[in-house]
Amino acid sequence: MASKGDSTRSVHAGLPPAKQGEPILPGPAMAAPFHLQGDPADSPYGYTREDNPTFANYEAAVGELEGGRALAFGSGMAALTAVALVNLRPGDTLVAPADGYPVLRATAESYLRPRGIEVRLVPTDDDALLGAVEGARLVMLETPSNPRLDVCDIERIAAAAHEHGAIVAVDNTLATPLGQPVLDLGADLSVVAGTKALTGHGDLLIGHVATRDDALLAPLRAWRASTGAVPGPFETWLAHRSLATLALRLERQCANALAIAEALDADARTGVVRYPGLPGDPAHATAKRQMRAYGPLVSFALSNRATAEAFLAGCELVADATSFGGVHTTAERRARWGHGDDVPEGFIRLSAGIEDSADLLSDIERGMAAAADRA
Ligand SMILES: *Cc1c(COP(=O)(O)O)cnc(C)c1O
Repeated sequence: MASKGDSTRSVHAGLPPAKQGEPILPGPAMAAPFHLQGDPADSPYGYTREDNPTFANYEAAVGELEGGRALAFGSGMAALTAVALVNLRPGDTLVAPADGYPVLRATAESYLRPRGIEVRLVPTDDDALLGAVEGARLVMLETPSNPRLDVCDIERIAAAAHEHGAIVAVDNTLATPLGQPVLDLGADLSVVAGTKALTGHGDLLIGHVATRDDALLAPLRAWRASTGAVPGPFETWLAHRSLATLALRLERQCANALAIAEALDADARTGVVRYPGLPGDPAHATAKRQMRAYGPLVSFALSNRATAEAFLAGCELVADATSFGGVHTTAERRARWGHGDDVPEGFIRLSAGIEDSADLLSDIERGMAAAADRA
């Protein structure tokens, strides 16, 4: 369906052929075992740790949006760790983002390094990455990086990594496959925490890996069955139901994010504002080339911890919460986690929801006024 528009693709993704008297999107197959008589090879389903028809429908949907074949996991981290542990052996080298999702770094420290895998943490920067791919077995990128929203050139880095025989996986959680078609840009694997913008309601955890290479997909499927890293059928069904509004949500979130970024950028009380869609942003040129939508995340800095906390407390619509990509606008003072993200105490990451732009802009103004009172 690649020739159809994004909303059409979102609404129709993964729906089975029409069948008289059946729902348009089949309900969740809530089963651990399935009837399985005689030779298991005769049945497509036997046990949900192996596979489930609800996974198959969701994977068909996500595969259509990605332009590849997909495998669902119980969370974004279940998908990322599957990619790492299936593709890396002792003695191999992993290139992973120094400035990306902190749980991946922590996982690499706790479980990969002690097993004899060299971990090179590299910032999301073309030159740094191009200089780091030699000798790597797996290159994991996250672009735009989170929370600082730097962007790297996927096509260039994938070409260089491939020359050195490495596999390239892109964590495409922020932009979603509609916002950034990473398989078209040369990535071997697209990894997405569907928990965030892809499903967009903040009510479930799910992840997936997509690829055009069956030789990469088969061992991931075996890994998932062995480790039990499957999602629940109900979450998977809810995720599929949520995909129908993906293009609509993304369109509104990106419009709101840009409006908020512009307002903050014009406000003398704000430090550096980052949004890949802002024409003056250092990441804009690359982002414009490889992204079709710039995603819901905006980051900016207020002068210190107290002003940032006053801003968050002063907003009525913007919920103070972690995670991102939901229909509700959320924000958090990132340094509260002490993740070693190396962000200033007043740094805020804001995720634009789908509320009316004018209401959000007045709310941000309310927050800025509260922050100014504290300064
Ligand atoms: C949230 C997130 C993950 C992990 O997803 P979970 O579903 O929480 O395990 C991975 N990568 C990025 C970029 C994320 O934002």
